[in-house]
Amino acid sequence: MERNQFVIEAAEVKSMTKESGLSVLQLVPCLVKSAQKLARPPISKYHVGAVGLGSGGRIFLGANVEFPGLPLHHSIHAEQFLVTNAAIHGETQLKYIALSTVPCGHCRQFLQEIRGASEIKILVSSIENVGGGHQNGEDEDETFSFRPLSTFLPHRFGPNDLLDRDVPLLLEPRHNALSFIDNNHENNIVIGDINCNGDVADHEKKLKCAALEAANESHAPYSVSPSGVALMDVEGRIYKGSYMESAAYNPSLGPVQAALVGYVAAGGGGGYDRIVAGVLVEKEGAIVVQDGTARLLMLSVSPRCDFRVFRCRASSSSSYNCKDKST
Ligand SMILES: [Zn+2]
Repeated sequence: MERNQFVIEAAEVKSMTKESGLSVLQLVPCLVKSAQKLARPPISKYHVGAVGLGSGGRIFLGANVEFPGLPLHHSIHAEQFLVTNAAIHGETQLKYIALSTVPCGHCRQFLQEIRGASEIKILVSSIENVGGGHQNGEDEDETFSFRPLSTFLPHRFGPNDLLDRDVPLLLEPRHNALSFIDNNHENNIVIGDINCNGDVADHEKKLKCAALEAANESHAPYSVSPSGVALMDVEGRIYKGSYMESAAYNPSLGPVQAALVGYVAAGGGGGYDRIVAGVLVEKEGAIVVQDGTARLLMLSVSPRCDFRVFRCRASSSSSYNCKDKST
């Protein structure tokens, strides 16, 4: 079953099950090969695919992305891509995930940031021989080949070890109450290459506001250093991504990576050099700073990208807020 898009709407999922005669939980693993084809692994050449079922019946795809010329820790794992893709599209839960290969330790840990992580059902298609003639019998539980994440990571370290239970976890709605410190008029972005109607100032503002929005949605409860990135392509389209932390720190996903997931997932089939402008918004005085590493990654994937950094603070009384259209 071929699908080259990263989000399949619930209505389409329904018609796919009708056409194929498969249940949704049988369909999900059948899409893993399509997800693998979307991978961008120029270093490993190893294509990883991840497919997740959202609570509203949407299906999300994820794939691994690697960046030549940079240290390996900049890579985006397929499971991270999947969760980021779901988050960008407002999904609040992934209860079933099918993978092309067993999840690495990094991803087993990253997935712990989702509430009820232990109960997320995982299917590894290479083990289950999906597409190789394995079919559920009529009287078998159709979920039999999905196993809880707790079987892959039985003695977990996770959010519960560090956070109060009422702190929002990954995929749960949050607003970090961040706003810009000032208008930064003196730092207006110059975006010369954008081929679109509308004035440049409008694009600048949209880009900054999208980055602020992403920072407000950032899952950074461990360092309390939320951040967000918005990228703009040559046609003026904007892709935003939020920094996402892991209780184990290292599996955290940077805001540029998250925005690049947005770019790729939106059909950015072309190269990253189509990205001409970007904005990082992060907290003034934050203990975790993205600035240097974000610039490094953007410089590497799109050297001509005009990348700017703006500071914000957690306050509702700031002079500049994107909700205030008069500023
Ligand atoms: Zn992984």
